[in-house]
Amino acid sequence: MSDTQWRLEVDRHLCISSGMCVGIAPDHFELEGDGSHATADVVDQDEAVVDAAESCPVEAIRVLSAASGDLVAPAD
Ligand code: SF4
Repeated sequence: MSDTQWRLEVDRHLCISSGMCVGIAPDHFELEGDGSHATADVVDQDEAVVDAAESCPVEAIRVLSAASGDLVAPAD
């Protein structure tokens, strides 16, 4: 697993199904009955997932370095 990949986590207990992430990064998120899901847990770096994490109104999305686990987004 290289450092060029990110891990996506969605906390569906926080998600209010606003759909922002799906609108911003439709390749990476989809809405289901219980909230947003990442279409893949580990993805190549893509600024769209950072935009989605920054735009989520409840900060339910976390983007992490797949290699180190360091938080990429959202910013504190
Ligand atoms: S932007 Fe956040 S609250 Fe809205 S659907 Fe995505 S994860 Fe859920």
